[in-house]
Amino acid sequence: MTERSSHQRVPDKWDRAIQADIRALKNIDFELAYLALLTHEGLKPLSRWEKPLGEPGQAVLTRMGLHVERVHRKLRSGKAFDETIFGRSAAHLEIYAQHFRNRAVDKSAETVRVEGYLFGYPPCCIAQYIRQAYAPHEFPVDQQRILFHWSCRGCVITPTLIPHYERIHRFVCDLGTATP
Ligand SMILES: [Zn+2]
Repeated sequence: MTERSSHQRVPDKWDRAIQADIRALKNIDFELAYLALLTHEGLKPLSRWEKPLGEPGQAVLTRMGLHVERVHRKLRSGKAFDETIFGRSAAHLEIYAQHFRNRAVDKSAETVRVEGYLFGYPPCCIAQYIRQAYAPHEFPVDQQRILFHWSCRGCVITPTLIPHYERIHRFVCDLGTATP
């Protein structure tokens, strides 16, 4: 692939049905739409939106071929809330629900490992995050900010993910939310 074509805009990469679905999700929340397309594309086995999602939003995710589930959680204060998980494989939702349903939110190494695995984070970045969260790295800020994991220093996997994340992020950014 030439330098030129790798930077081409991709208005027609996704068909109209997916464009309409992503537009509907973006009307609810930008991050929800971005996570949905990353998951649809298989870059993330599972995604978590840290809020309950209403029936119309759930129907859009289902139409995109994703399994959706609401998971009841607790804050460390004891306050309860619901989060929404979605993924292409029902098994990943089951693994997540088994670990976290009705559990308090925590940052233990076990949680970081399980979440990192399900959310498609590079193993090296997960291990580094457990040793030291947000350790300094040489990664460009504008690339780090579109990721959901913190890159480890000298990561060999994250740079290979960047073009895919950038393409999807740009698509969701550029997509108008007004009904055509
Ligand atoms: Zn890494």
